[in-house]
Amino acid sequence: RTKRGAALLEGLNPRQREAVVHAGSPLLIVAGAGSGKTRVLTHRIAWLLAERDVHPGEVMSITFTNKAAAEMKERVDALVGRRGNAMWVSTFHSMCVRILRREAQHLGVRSAFSVYDADDTRRLVGMVTRDLELDPKKYAPRAVGAQISNLKNELLSADDAAERATNEFERRVAEVYGVYQARLRTANAFDFDDLIMETVSLLERLPAVAEYYRRRFRHVLVDEYQDTNHAQYALVRALVAPAVEGAQPAELCVVGDSDQSIYAFRGANIRNIVEFEKDFPDARTILLEQNYRSTQTILTAANTVIARNPDRRDKRLWSEAGDGEKVVGYVADNEHDEAAFVAQEIDRLVDTGEYRNSDIAVFYRTNSQSRVFEGVFARVGMAYKIVGGVRFYERMEVRDALAYLRVLSNPDDTVSLRRILNVPKRGIGERAEEMVASYADRERISFATALRVAAEDPGRVPGLVTRSQRAIAGFVRILDELGELVERGEETAELLEAVYAKTGYTAELEASEDPQDGSRLDNLAELVTVAREFAGDAAVADAAVAPEFDPAGFDGGLPEPGVPDPGSLAAFLERVALVADADSIPDDDQGMVTLMTLHTAKGLEFPVVFLTGWEDGVFPHMRAMGDPAELAEERRLAYVGITRARQRLYLSRAMIRSAFGQPNANPASRFLAEVPDTLVDWRRSEPERSAPVGRFGFGRRSTATDRGSWNVPKASMAPTLSLDVGDRVNHDKYGLGTVTASDGTGARATVTIDFGSAGTVRLMLIGGVPLQKL
Ligand code: ATP
Ligand code: MG
Repeated sequence: RTKRGAALLEGLNPRQREAVVHAGSPLLIVAGAGSGKTRVLTHRIAWLLAERDVHPGEVMSITFTNKAAAEMKERVDALVGRRGNAMWVSTFHSMCVRILRREAQHLGVRSAFSVYDADDTRRLVGMVTRDLELDPKKYAPRAVGAQISNLKNELLSADDAAERATNEFERRVAEVYGVYQARLRTANAFDFDDLIMETVSLLERLPAVAEYYRRRFRHVLVDEYQDTNHAQYALVRALVAPAVEGAQPAELCVVGDSDQSIYAFRGANIRNIVEFEKDFPDARTILLEQNYRSTQTILTAANTVIARNPDRRDKRLWSEAGDGEKVVGYVADNEHDEAAFVAQEIDRLVDTGEYRNSDIAVFYRTNSQSRVFEGVFARVGMAYKIVGGVRFYERMEVRDALAYLRVLSNPDDTVSLRRILNVPKRGIGERAEEMVASYADRERISFATALRVAAEDPGRVPGLVTRSQRAIAGFVRILDELGELVERGEETAELLEAVYAKTGYTAELEASEDPQDGSRLDNLAELVTVAREFAGDAAVADAAVAPEFDPAGFDGGLPEPGVPDPGSLAAFLERVALVADADSIPDDDQGMVTLMTLHTAKGLEFPVVFLTGWEDGVFPHMRAMGDPAELAEERRLAYVGITRARQRLYLSRAMIRSAFGQPNANPASRFLAEVPDTLVDWRRSEPERSAPVGRFGFGRRSTATDRGSWNVPKASMAPTLSLDVGDRVNHDKYGLGTVTASDGTGARATVTIDFGSAGTVRLMLIGGVPLQKL
């Protein structure tokens, strides 16, 4: 053993060492979170290089997310330096892209093939179903696409699918699959699932190609093995098969934790880890039981929650780190109060000098929950970054909507005007845009004026064809109609809704089958909520100054120059610009707070973790609540979340959270009750007698300074309606619905209502809910 090798084993416990030095047979390491699985993989690679004469080019290491791959590469580089570069460290998908590009000549595609993402895929499936004249209701591209994806994850071709089809739907899906696949090839493209499936098929079909990779990669290591699907499993098997008959196969080492399997919805199958010993009969299994990441308190919290899952093997995970701090619990009035609490707490932690921003992470269940944190963090000037998602104000649809508002507020804002000129598509092409632009240049008038000339006076703008001219006239008409609303002093929220409706923007998204368009609609609704809240804030500010304010005073009540009227469109845009410009917050040496979803957090760790939105219907997700299997997966997600924390863990929930622009009363997450109360220091728990809440109470936002105050106006707490399961109702916003559940009594009564395509919503039956029983 060299000095270098000995150093690699230092700082590992005996079991971990065993795993690092193990040679000669497949190796499975199963262990709970934070027990050093990824560390073992990393050290094992270094050990192979240092002690077993393995060349870095002989090592293939597969991680599940790009984030984990980057972190691993970093860890490996830190151990072995630049030599690490010859090694393949990547996700399954990027590894396959690499192989397929090298072997393109065998596949009948050019090596510059495109990789279609989910969005492209859905669109192509849609084209095929249209061409085959399938009923779009029965054969929604989203559903058909998901079926095709499932088939591919099971390595089934279109022919296989046709053979197995037992009903009309499956036969049709198989047919679409076949055409879709042919179109992909014509487009010189692969979708995500193809990447894996094609690589497997390549290795199976072409022994010479397979031999090359089998000879080359003598060591295959897979992290997060619990989240592999069947195709990925087959790929691993194909890679570690003997290069030629009788040859020594590559050494396989996989690590995972079935309690952290969170991708079943993408076909991940924990059988791969559970039955590893069956798949590889001479395999060696090593269990790790010491957790090095978290305090005992955090670990106990995680263990207690995950213990509720049925059909799992109990693990004894312990920590030497001591009990540490209690878990901090916080019940917020609403999501703004929750974000304000998080911001204030981060501020306090950083002020003590114990932590930097970069030590801190905030997790949530779905991407859309980031918006409120972004707003609050930007306002208090806290540097943050969002991992694996786009900031709310950077999302395309939000920028489009804001561009409309900017143009309405300032018609000469050429950048915004040109952004929305043909959004949604209305037949004003690039050529027409250029004609108008050069006309404006020549005449020395603004683009907006030139557009108006083009609209009103056909023939004035040279080169503009009639079709474009008409389209421009239509666009100008829309702007004029919207302009009238501005003149009349309509609220910004109303204005936004008019923009969505008059331009056909939301109609186009509603008609689309693309799931991304669904979240675009959510974001647009969220923007209306932002505008409403802003108006509410302004109204409060107005009321506050009203008594002293003398409109006949010496300034004649004129607004101060340069300061927009509170509540006005200009004021709203100003406020949004500041939030949207969060990038300009300097990243001082404290670093940035990290925001991400629970799924993205897998494999990572932070000294301080905030787990937010612990409400039934948010987390666990509404979709999972009725299905034991999905609920178990959500619970694993809770386990993943809790075990990201090293020293301090915060659990928070909001009593009221807006969804679709409407406040909902959410009960505590059932997972919250599963964390032993003795471990939790409730900074703020639910008040004995619930404070009055009402639909008018949420226009006002708590800030870091007024946290904890019940700033909601009085409203009747008596249930205004009594509803039973099965009752039909009409809601001003969501339309017709059916009550599917009812919980609690009196002031705490809530009902869950299925509004069909508008979704399922849980409401508190209090004064002001715009709901009628039918
Ligand atoms: P997860 O299941 O969340 O992916 P994991 O099992 O991969 O976790 P690691 O991320 O490898 O765990 O390790 C968790 C933390 O414990 C890391 O900070 C790692 O450096 C540290 N660690 C692991 N083993 C030891 C050890 N023997 N001594 C000291 N620290 C260790
Ligand atoms: Mg890990």
